[in-house]
Amino acid sequence: MQQLESDNSKRLMQFLYTLRSRGVLDTNVLLAMEKIDRGQFIKGPFAERAYEDVPLPISCAQTISQPSVVGLMTQALNVQPRDKVLEVGTGSGYQAAILSQLARRVYTIDRHSTLTNYVEKLFLDLNISNVTIFLGDGCLGLPEQAPFDKIMVTAAAEDPPSILLSQLKVGGTMIVPVGQSDSIQNLIKVVREESGFVYEELFPVRFVPLVEGLSKN
Ligand code: SAH
Repeated sequence: MQQLESDNSKRLMQFLYTLRSRGVLDTNVLLAMEKIDRGQFIKGPFAERAYEDVPLPISCAQTISQPSVVGLMTQALNVQPRDKVLEVGTGSGYQAAILSQLARRVYTIDRHSTLTNYVEKLFLDLNISNVTIFLGDGCLGLPEQAPFDKIMVTAAAEDPPSILLSQLKVGGTMIVPVGQSDSIQNLIKVVREESGFVYEELFPVRFVPLVEGLSKN
């Protein structure tokens, strides 16, 4: 028993060390990533690799992102305790769970009902109560909940989706991977200012594509 505990804490120390060494330095983000156990978001044969800094397959041919990318994207979004955040691309629910620790309220949307149903149950089990999960086309955002302080898109778009930009508050930030799905994508940070949108390129990433419309499963 004691051995297991010490193995777990060694694994967590290593996980956090890797995040820091890859540039995740924001204390609140690190605390959230310490608290949310990535192992609970990966089932099946890949579960044992949950603490490695790699993306891994989940159901519906999608992926859970690499932890350091989750950390760097969350850090770039600069989430504040009163923020209302939209995530497009629920996937495993891991990124939404991290955001739930930092924001007042999180809305997350995916086009696969298999994923949204699964994550809904998982969040009940994990007692995460400030996240609402929607089945839908995230390209359309969530007009009834808009505007948002922060928007994070976790699938690659060809351009920052204009409907999502219109759902951002003035002073708000959106993070979105931009580029073709099978080639180099760049993470883009967009800040909505009174006078318009300001774009900044952050770093190269690789995400599954943002696909319009609902999936059948
Ligand atoms: N954030 C996730 C990883 C996302 S993988 C995590 O933490 O695990 C990308 C996700 O985007 C997939 O689940 C895919 O179904 C979803 N997606 C792709 N296009 C979408 C769209 N138009 N609307 C909503 N979700 C979409």
